[in-house]
Amino acid sequence: MCGIFGIYSYEKENVTKKIYYGLFALQHRGQEGAGIAVSDGKGINFYKNIGLVTEVFKKDILQNLFGYIGIGHVRYSTTGIKSVENCQPFVVKSSLGQIAIAHNGDILNSEELRLELEKKGHIFTSTTDSEIIAQLLIREIIKTNDRIEAIKNVLNKLVGAYSLLILFEDCLIAVRDEHGFKPLCIGEDGENIYISSEDCALTTLDVSFLRDVKPGEIVVINNDGMESYTFKKKNKVSTCMFEYIYFARPDSTIDGISVYKVRKEVGRRLAKEHPVEADIISPIPDSGNAFAIGYSEESKIPYYEALIKNKYTGRTFILPSQNERELAVRLKLSPVRSLLENKRVVLVDDSIVRGTTSKRIVNMVKKVGAKEVHLRVGCPKIISPCYYGIDMATKEELIAHKKCIMEIAKIIGVESLGYISIEGLLKAIGRKDLCLACLTGEYPTDINFIKVQNR
Ligand code: AMP
Repeated sequence: MCGIFGIYSYEKENVTKKIYYGLFALQHRGQEGAGIAVSDGKGINFYKNIGLVTEVFKKDILQNLFGYIGIGHVRYSTTGIKSVENCQPFVVKSSLGQIAIAHNGDILNSEELRLELEKKGHIFTSTTDSEIIAQLLIREIIKTNDRIEAIKNVLNKLVGAYSLLILFEDCLIAVRDEHGFKPLCIGEDGENIYISSEDCALTTLDVSFLRDVKPGEIVVINNDGMESYTFKKKNKVSTCMFEYIYFARPDSTIDGISVYKVRKEVGRRLAKEHPVEADIISPIPDSGNAFAIGYSEESKIPYYEALIKNKYTGRTFILPSQNERELAVRLKLSPVRSLLENKRVVLVDDSIVRGTTSKRIVNMVKKVGAKEVHLRVGCPKIISPCYYGIDMATKEELIAHKKCIMEIAKIIGVESLGYISIEGLLKAIGRKDLCLACLTGEYPTDINFIKVQNR
């Protein structure tokens, strides 16, 4: 997963700072690296590095970037090793001028495409899919002498998930793959057009939401205005359900559906599907908050914040030893003894992937004296890996891959465990055109491609 943000300014104002703020609002989509590329109409200037948006962009760096069209990216890695080269936007130079690309998603046939290009003599400088897209695009533009035709030809070669921003020296292009896996929306404020992974970033900048980019749509923004093209007419939309459950910010609306409302409704349905007698309900913050409110409203069991999150632990700790990993959870979350001691507690979280986090949290809650712990989960059992850009581990690492509910409950150490059903989830979201591959093992695209992780 990653976050992308772009602006075209008709007044030719410098857009760098606004992109910075947009990326800051999308920080939850990726904490590994950040970058901004801007064009002043004559050339593209860019800066990217490893770190959070505020760590990468110090005042002097922002001051040196000037342009009235620009794109930005926050990185969360699924493919490609952690390095500056793999941060985005990816900028390439050619006889046609410069092009910058920011990508959210994962291309499944990227190795095939890379090998094809390498056979033709291309030397790659990164392991990202964006560089492959950029190189393919340059070749097609040279061949067709028509940007839109070239983009369509390249997109028709890609299998997988991509919301893309393409920056030419004189125009901004936004693309959402034909399945609409990842969100992408358009905003405007009378002077500028904005493209963002989520509308929460538009709200931050006090920009009006215009519409979502449609699956299979290419949106071109230049001095003449905004134009829309369709690159694949026949498509089966399958937007990632996990955007609604975990990934997107709760104050975002994706394809007309409020993320917060979905989470609360899942919580209500969880209370109906898996009722339990208990004294208090507490979310595992922050991802479990809205689910727990819904569960509490439906069950009438009082809602308390029995786990306090340290607001200064933005990123997951990567600590070497087992002991230190236990400490990492306690640095992030701390139990309120007075709320938990001798109580029957319902803990509500968004999802269980490997099961290691929940196990540690349950252990912590029991240590301060909780009598019973019942875990309720807003995402059905995750049984298959995601190939579209969400790092969900391998099949073997997924706790629900081969184990039944009773076995998982025993491993995690809870008195009872309840996952929302797939039907309940679909009803709560209120749409059926979703990608459920991680829940069912049925993938909306071909997945039989060579994939070399961390080349
Ligand atoms: P675990 O079961 O230990 O793998 O951790 C699951 C928890 O991590 C969930 O409760 C989420 O809050 C969070 N989570 C779920 N999916 C992801 C992901 N793809 N990347 C980062 N964190 C995630």
